[in-house]
Amino acid sequence: MSQVFHRHCHTPLRTAVRGDGVYLYDQDGKAYLDASGGAAVSCLGHSHAGVRAALHKQIDQLAYAHSSFFTTEVAETLATRLTARAPGDLNHVYFLSGGSEAVEAALKLARQYFVERGEPQRSRFIARRQSYHGNTLGALAVGGNAWRRAPFAPLLTHAEHIAPCYAYRDCKPGESLFDYGQRVANELEQCLLTVGPETVIAFVAEPVVGATAGALTAVEGYFKRIREICDRYGVLLILDEVMCGMGRTGTLFAHEQEGIHTDIVTIAKGLGAGYQPIGAMLASDRIYDTIANGSGFFQHGHTYMAHATTMAGSLAVLDALEQEQILARVNPMGEALMTRLRERFGEHPHIGDIRGRGLFQALELVHDRDSKRPFDPRSKLDSRIKSAGMSRGLMCYPMAGTIDGHRGHHILLAPPFIIEESQLDELTDKLYDTVQQVTAEAFT
Ligand code: PLP
Repeated sequence: MSQVFHRHCHTPLRTAVRGDGVYLYDQDGKAYLDASGGAAVSCLGHSHAGVRAALHKQIDQLAYAHSSFFTTEVAETLATRLTARAPGDLNHVYFLSGGSEAVEAALKLARQYFVERGEPQRSRFIARRQSYHGNTLGALAVGGNAWRRAPFAPLLTHAEHIAPCYAYRDCKPGESLFDYGQRVANELEQCLLTVGPETVIAFVAEPVVGATAGALTAVEGYFKRIREICDRYGVLLILDEVMCGMGRTGTLFAHEQEGIHTDIVTIAKGLGAGYQPIGAMLASDRIYDTIANGSGFFQHGHTYMAHATTMAGSLAVLDALEQEQILARVNPMGEALMTRLRERFGEHPHIGDIRGRGLFQALELVHDRDSKRPFDPRSKLDSRIKSAGMSRGLMCYPMAGTIDGHRGHHILLAPPFIIEESQLDELTDKLYDTVQQVTAEAFT
């Protein structure tokens, strides 16, 4: 028995021993095509020479200096590079060690902003159903799956949940996509008016929903309306780009494509590309200035924030994305993937929707396409797909959208940006066989 406390206590795991490009290899030398980048992490693929060299160099020079004593050149440079690329006035970067930490810090920063402004009655968040923001208590509270929150309910921060922008399921017959987007965005206003806008700190959303809804993009105009409502009622906007950021959808920040500015954005996964654990929160001038000119101290912090080795690794990731033109591959390779998915799954009786942006795409599984009826959440289709894929040498990221709302299963794809066309063929072939096997079994 393994002494590692794995998340699934009874599912034996293979041992990964080596990574190279878009493949991972297990203890028997079997190759797995990493079509999900782990959990949308490995944007550069495995064993990138430039990142490895940067990490070695930094460890040789200075591995770690506690952030209450020192800053480092690598942290300063990384912050400058990120803020230069971020839309609007997100000029202040707070470095953390992962996605949940980044979201947690964002929630606390937003709360402290209002406390310092003399508005302590603002004590709740509004977020969306079918979202995922992490597993620490604050991040869990804003996350949109009631079953994840339920066991911890008495410990959670106060959060309301409104509908996600999910045109495939919720756009009414005859309704235009734009009108649908406005209608669903207006749920934020209704919720604010119900709870009292003066009690709300922020609205929290993923620009492209990842794990819990499968590369779910908002329709045109949705986020513009959300921004208007936030401004009208003096509520902050926190965008969570932990999964969809760092180029995954074709632009470094996913919300660049929504034509809006945000007050806070969180990033993580692709920022470290799997070479080291990192998260970050970028905050706007008005939030930073309020705290800087008020108490002068953000009441937060972690031992490993702005860890020098981590900073050096992420700088090398950014170099690779920008200087090796790896980011520029996302849209063309994303189109190539989408074309293949449409060819292979466009008429599949159990694939209801094929969606996504850049190299962040998903298939939504349905019992039948006409009614869009989802498979029974108890069918465990997600774990069956994962293991059927693994036995074929394919890593994909299947998930039951929400067990509470019966909104279906999907398979998320987030391959490394370095993926080649021939590897996209391998991916779609293996995925097709996997889906065929598991959906056929579901009817026997
Ligand atoms: N936010 C989003 C959108 C995520 O997808 C995730 C993880 O999947 C998190 C936050 C939490 O990140 P972490 O698992 O690094 O704590």
